[in-house]
Amino acid sequence: ATPTALMVGTGRGAQLGILIKGPEVLESTRRVDTVVLDKTGTVTTGRMTLQKVYAAEGEDEEQVLRLAGAVEHASEHPVARAVAQGAEERFGRLPEVTGFENVPGRGVHGRVEGRDVAVGRLFDALPTGLARAREEAERDGRTAVVVGWDGVARGVVAVADAVKETSAEAVRELRALGLAPVLLTGDNRTVAEAVADAVGIDQVIAEVLPEDKVEAVRRLQREGRCVAMVGDGVNDAAALATADLGLALGTGTDAAIEAGDLTLVRGDLRVAADAIRLSRKTLATIK
Ligand code: ADP
Ligand code: MG
Repeated sequence: ATPTALMVGTGRGAQLGILIKGPEVLESTRRVDTVVLDKTGTVTTGRMTLQKVYAAEGEDEEQVLRLAGAVEHASEHPVARAVAQGAEERFGRLPEVTGFENVPGRGVHGRVEGRDVAVGRLFDALPTGLARAREEAERDGRTAVVVGWDGVARGVVAVADAVKETSAEAVRELRALGLAPVLLTGDNRTVAEAVADAVGIDQVIAEVLPEDKVEAVRRLQREGRCVAMVGDGVNDAAALATADLGLALGTGTDAAIEAGDLTLVRGDLRVAADAIRLSRKTLATIK
């Protein structure tokens, strides 16, 4: 490999909005045949908005949203932002939370007005009404989280995310480069499949805990695949580092950017295809 050709490749990359850690990362783009895409914030905008609040029988919808909003106010998660913002719009100032705790990939809990409030996927048993409400929301492609306090599930809150305008085109371009796309997410399977359908992905790995994302990448590698991973979250960092080629979105977290081999500055997935195309072209001129 001549260093000059590689320098040209990295310079052109910067113009396209691709930052390359070192010229040696280009080498792995030759063999990559699979591209794993994180869902939230990568294929979708990650800017979620509150859609609907359901209360279990005998519970009050307003109370469900107010207490959920109070706990979520302390979290940075896209689901949390949507819930807290929706609650603030309705009630103004939210009550204080103490003893806040984040359970990665599952939810949050804390004490609000003397109650132990939990939001997320932290309850196993749901009353029939709530289970049905959650199913209905998920069928519509929404992320539904359960709200409860003092050990009892009392409501469901549904939030919606939007697929980025450019994601379907990006998936077509990645396929044209010979890469098989896979959607990877901690979110519910029904929601994940709705997003996958919308952008043309047929392989979905859903309901994966943050620490298991890296294992999902390793499993594909054990099947003999050479894996590129695109992600933005703290949850994606280990998987980005493990993948044969890690592409972090510049719109994402510092942890993801540090773990990746490449950064896609603008968060547009089509640039992932540009990166692989440019890299292969650069390597071709070296041979
Ligand atoms: P993704 O892989 O799509 O980025 P995460 O692993 O961050 O998603 O979260 C997976 C799931 O855990 C979410 O879809 C949600 O159901 C639940 N969850 C995580 N954090 C929170 C939170 N702060 N509030 C409510 N639910 C949460
Ligand atoms: Mg994400």
